[in-house]
Amino acid sequence: MKKRWIALLLATILLTACAKGAGQSESVIPTEKIEGSTLYVKKVENLPDDFIMGMDASSVIAEEQSGVKYYNFAGEEQDVMKTLAENGITHIRVRVWNHPYDAEGHGYGGGNCDTEKAIEIGKRATRYGMKLIVDFHYSDFWADPGKQMVPLAWKDMDARTKADALYEFTRDALTEMKDAGVAVGMVQLGNETNSSLCGESHFENIARLMNAGSKAVREVCPDALVAVHIANPERVGAYDGYANKLELFGVDYDVFASSYYPFWHGTLENLANVLNGIAENYGKKVMVMETSYPYTPDDTDFSGNTISGETANIVKDYPFTVQGQANHVRNVIDTVAHVKNGIGVVYWEGTWITVGTESWEENHEKWETFGSGWASSYGGSYDPEDAGKWYGGCAVDNQAMFDAEGKPLESLRVWNLARYGNEVEKKADAIRDTALVFDLKGTIELPETVDAVLTSNELQPVPVTWNVTDADIAQMYAGGAKTYEITGTAEGLPARATVSMVNFNYLKNFGFEDGVLDPWQTEDRGGADQLYVEDKITDSLNGTYHMHFWSAKKDSIDFSLFQEVKDLPEGTYSFTISIMGGDAGDAEIFCYALVDGVEVGRTPMKITSYGNWDTQTVEGIKVAAGQTVTVGVSVKCSGAGSGAWGKIDDALLNRQD
Ligand code: CA
Repeated sequence: MKKRWIALLLATILLTACAKGAGQSESVIPTEKIEGSTLYVKKVENLPDDFIMGMDASSVIAEEQSGVKYYNFAGEEQDVMKTLAENGITHIRVRVWNHPYDAEGHGYGGGNCDTEKAIEIGKRATRYGMKLIVDFHYSDFWADPGKQMVPLAWKDMDARTKADALYEFTRDALTEMKDAGVAVGMVQLGNETNSSLCGESHFENIARLMNAGSKAVREVCPDALVAVHIANPERVGAYDGYANKLELFGVDYDVFASSYYPFWHGTLENLANVLNGIAENYGKKVMVMETSYPYTPDDTDFSGNTISGETANIVKDYPFTVQGQANHVRNVIDTVAHVKNGIGVVYWEGTWITVGTESWEENHEKWETFGSGWASSYGGSYDPEDAGKWYGGCAVDNQAMFDAEGKPLESLRVWNLARYGNEVEKKADAIRDTALVFDLKGTIELPETVDAVLTSNELQPVPVTWNVTDADIAQMYAGGAKTYEITGTAEGLPARATVSMVNFNYLKNFGFEDGVLDPWQTEDRGGADQLYVEDKITDSLNGTYHMHFWSAKKDSIDFSLFQEVKDLPEGTYSFTISIMGGDAGDAEIFCYALVDGVEVGRTPMKITSYGNWDTQTVEGIKVAAGQTVTVGVSVKCSGAGSGAWGKIDDALLNRQD
């Protein structure tokens, strides 16, 4: 009896600490609309009161140690946790690495995020009424879909022993947080654990580890939600497959959380579909655990960024402006709020800004000393392949919600304004880039209007003035096939266009941008599982469409893709086409040309790996009047791994004489 009574008392204390936080706490999260903002925000309808508005602020301590100061909207220096809460943030997320230090105690970087730092951040978050989301990576450094390295101290353990260690680590860390008065709202069983966790890739072992973590959370913080977090919602069937395995292996969790980086992770519509599927089929709560968007294309810390103005082949749904960033956040909130069991959105590292604006050398010293860059050189002792080679500063400073001086961006207001709406007068926020293509033998006519992206993210044509002289135009006619970049001004904003001068292309739908196959044809000799025109900008050489192929069964990739052209002027032509792919196995790939059905040339091609396009040409195709030319590519692969796959794009049939 007595024992039970003590257990009950203990549970009550634990419950109180985990849910409310035992320290002094006074919520500064506004319960009304913040007035006076210039940000355009369309109201998210039917947003639940308890919707999680989260901010990952893992590197804040390392930033402050590096001398970074954060300010409020009044321009006063203030605890950044308070500023976040004052603008509607309800949860702070922190990653926890087991031991991100080398044998001499040098931090690996990325904030040197350990339990101690999580507690300090957690206490400050709790003070202002926010709850903590604890993101255990169960690694000594970054864990993501590409790597899930085991902590050094657990290196030689088998899965069962590792599960015991993981249980104890989780229990002890959460107990320390609880003892410090931190209000823990949610705990993650690993970070982006798509393919493995803590060095284990068999799902039985992954499940064993997850359940060990879950058990610790249930014991120490029974009111906290337990989350599983993976990435890549755009991969067909991936989320359902993962949730199915979690169910099959009996993993005890509450929330299925997703990363959503719009540059790579598909559309919001697709995100809603896959999350709805998880909620419907498995009864779980769902959320976006990481998302972010650039407020500027520019780097601010002398260490290159993941996404910049120059980044090619990514989806840019909004301009890289403060308003664009806010529109992205608003629309992710709107999407998750309208998914079944959708409980929240967390922004990733919105407080990770530059540690200095003077020089790389000065910043480098701080990154090394305080761990405020993504990795220090010391990280190489644990992760030689990545940190060891590429250590440096922050790669997302242009996606923060504070500027390089630590002043909050107007976009930070979006967390509050999404609840109420702030539909101020729309105006032009940026000018959309224009891509122009002209025949070298034709006429260059620059457009008189360009599309302005309004603050509401709608498009509106506006007049433009191009900074182009007659001499520039003459150079474009004379310079051969080449692409130029020109600039201009519209609505007082900078405008940009690329001008591609091209030889006339006698092929139709040459880059598949019509979104259909026609007038291309296929001859599918092997019966491929997938052979179609695909809409995916990240996999296209140019534009957003390309021809896609994949097939699992051996030798089932064996097809030709070709186009017939009649009524060509008599002359000599060249045919060029590009291909990329992988897992080809033994392969015979070539581009070819037929004249009246007789082959007149072929050039071998090869596929090696993702993103490595092979561009080849068949030259000297002589055509007389009335003849029919057929140009195409023939692909035959035995296949390896999960099957040969590839992409074909940008075909050209040009005059050579
Ligand atoms: Ca940077």
